[in-house]
Amino acid sequence: MIKYFDNAATTKLDEEVLKEMLPYLTENYANPSSIYSVGKQAKEAITIARMKIADAIGANVNEIYFTSCGSESDNLAVKGIAYANSRYGNHIITSSIEHPAILNTCKALEGMGFRVTYLKPEPNGIVSVDSVRKAITKNTILISIMFANNEIGTIQPIKEIAELARRNNIYFHTDCVQAMGNVKVNVKELKVSALSMSAHKFYGPKGVGVLYVREGVPFKRIQDGGHQEREKRSGTENVAGIVGTGKALEIATKNLEINSRKMKTLRDYYLENIQLRIPNIRINGDLEKRLPGNSNVCFLGVDGAKLLEELDKRNICASSGSACSAGLLQPSPVLLAIGVPRNVAKSSLRVTFGKSNTLEEVDYLVRSLVEIIN
Ligand SMILES: *Cc1c(COP(=O)(O)O)cnc(C)c1O
Repeated sequence: MIKYFDNAATTKLDEEVLKEMLPYLTENYANPSSIYSVGKQAKEAITIARMKIADAIGANVNEIYFTSCGSESDNLAVKGIAYANSRYGNHIITSSIEHPAILNTCKALEGMGFRVTYLKPEPNGIVSVDSVRKAITKNTILISIMFANNEIGTIQPIKEIAELARRNNIYFHTDCVQAMGNVKVNVKELKVSALSMSAHKFYGPKGVGVLYVREGVPFKRIQDGGHQEREKRSGTENVAGIVGTGKALEIATKNLEINSRKMKTLRDYYLENIQLRIPNIRINGDLEKRLPGNSNVCFLGVDGAKLLEELDKRNICASSGSACSAGLLQPSPVLLAIGVPRNVAKSSLRVTFGKSNTLEEVDYLVRSLVEIIN
């Protein structure tokens, strides 16, 4: 049996979610654009899923768009808003610790004449509202700051940045992929212009993203084709996936408090135990403003790649938070951005807890780490 501690990478599809999805992969395979009854039923299933998602985040149904993944939602939000508003300015503000779906989208926009400011976070991994304020120019049309970081779990001051953006007539998008299902998210309270999520990060299926765009926020579609998603995202809908996403978010919202309390307990227990039993540890990222299930630790003097290999031999799935390219472990850009030295950054281990992890599994993980490192 594998011990899965990589819930920031993806989560296990919930049994209940699969059960809701199955009929749309088997008996009812109709295209939701078809006019016969089974087509209408498929369309109705999408409508219900859209309502569930809107309900969960305090949005209206006409503000929800289905895409193929979190990355596509990020692309559609940032490019879509940038294209639709380019006559008002060409400046975008983001942070240097965003997911590649945002960073590389911004890079692409730079190649098209947009100017992008990449804000460096504070050493605790939080982007200061003041740094955003100082970066605003009369040409700024969009700010995109992630809700919570995927490597160090830090939660950004989204409500404050959204307010700052609103006062300056600038649109504000947040990549909420990591936070959804782990912390309370209400778009009416946050007053963001756009927000991305991805089903497979909250026990839904892979291959479904959601983009919330507040009514009245102009954005241009980036995929041309049919009329689906109110002309904003062409392509025959992933009916089963969308149904699963609705169900997954409904479950996640209902159990949010109990699950996040549980993950936090496991995470704190893990941190407490490794600190007691392994010397020379550095914990990365703010400990308070942080996702309940995220831990990111540097074991000074330990090779992160080797550590993952040894953990894998013991059936433990975890992550270094760094990209491995050509067999070489590159230090995580997020850790470098918060000022962790290169050699220290290479010793990082990201352990992210999920709703099904147990104390026994954490004990096994700690025992394994002690064995490997000492
Ligand atoms: C996983 C993730 C994404 C990408 O979502 P996909 O559905 O895998 O494309 C984007 N942003 C963050 C913060 C993520 O953690």
